[in-house]
Amino acid sequence: MRDQKSPDDNATDQYDLQTQAVRTGIHRSQFNEHSEALYLTSSFVFDNAAQAAARFSNAEPGVIYSRFTNPTVAALQERLAALEGAETCVATASGMSAILAMAMTLLKSGDHVLCSAGVFGTTVQLFGNILAKFGLVTTFVDSSDPAAWQKAMRPETKLLFIETPSNPTTEVYDIAALAAVAKKGGALLAVDNCFCTPALQKPLELGADIIIHSATKFLDGQGRVLGGAVLGDKAIGEGITGFLRTAGPTLSAFNAWVILKGLETLQIRLDAQSKSALELAQWLEQHPAVDRVFYPGLASHPQHALAMRQQKAGGAIVSFEVKGGRAGAWRVIDSTRLLSITANLGDTKSTITHPSTTTHGRIGEEARARAGIREGLLRVAVGLESVRDLKADLERGLGD
Ligand SMILES: *Cc1c(COP(=O)(O)O)cnc(C)c1O
Repeated sequence: MRDQKSPDDNATDQYDLQTQAVRTGIHRSQFNEHSEALYLTSSFVFDNAAQAAARFSNAEPGVIYSRFTNPTVAALQERLAALEGAETCVATASGMSAILAMAMTLLKSGDHVLCSAGVFGTTVQLFGNILAKFGLVTTFVDSSDPAAWQKAMRPETKLLFIETPSNPTTEVYDIAALAAVAKKGGALLAVDNCFCTPALQKPLELGADIIIHSATKFLDGQGRVLGGAVLGDKAIGEGITGFLRTAGPTLSAFNAWVILKGLETLQIRLDAQSKSALELAQWLEQHPAVDRVFYPGLASHPQHALAMRQQKAGGAIVSFEVKGGRAGAWRVIDSTRLLSITANLGDTKSTITHPSTTTHGRIGEEARARAGIREGLLRVAVGLESVRDLKADLERGLGD
């Protein structure tokens, strides 16, 4: 007889992250399948009328309808919650719908939000345009200095929202210091942990209240599906679940299953991609055609010490400014044969983007200047190809 903790192979807190990434959240069906089951069904059948009534009234826990309960989605939520050390995780249809669900659940008209100027371009639009229509007031803070955040706090400030490192200039925000600012003002700190993932950074352990994920990026890790998640305490989880049940931006079971399998290789991917990114950043830093490299793993990064304190490694995103402004940047992009010209990131296939005309094109010149996104800036999301091949591909457009 095997000395086994549970017939589900359900990993608990005693296991390391890599073990949880492979084992947590498995609840086997009557067939005792080894791999995670995919439940592609919109609704679930009840044994009788009384059971249906009990499920709907919450007197009996269980599945009802996949807009708010699906076993495959639940398995992903359980696994990701374990990796982030969160009480609950609620999966959403995309990263943007995770941010929307968080805002719609926790904020109301008249509330004030502090959002870092260096967040994902669409996040700026969501807070600055869409949520503003409903009376939410957002101040974009263009500094990672906690003193600047403290100064921007108002009595009605309810949420501080950051991404660290930021996209695309890899500015690092001190999670513990900003958590203290939030706490003092009676607000919550939300961290978009997309760039690092729990493989490299654990915001809740540093004092954050909420974690946002675009699972589209490193959690899937292979560029296949869209997904998102909100993680936090039990009350936040219940609120978000209620919002999804009513408003509907739910993660599909299929996408949940793909992301669940993606999580199994999260740590080894992030370790390998960070190692390659560092090597590429060091090479770019000494390249005569490059003015400046943004990568937290470089000793020359202005916040290198902070980054190494709160992150396990520098991550897979390397941004750099080439000489010659937009023309110089576009020449590098158009000379590549291997790197994919696409705005996505977090894939095993390396990608290259010109932020000022794509991902950050719609936020306007002023917001771009605030975020430090210049015309010569390029962002590379390093995948799993060899660094030698990546260097050769970039050299074509950087050389003369
Ligand atoms: C892509 C991205 C998002 C949005 O995620 P989607 O899944 O595309 O909706 C949010 N935050 C960051 C940091 C991102 O890179």
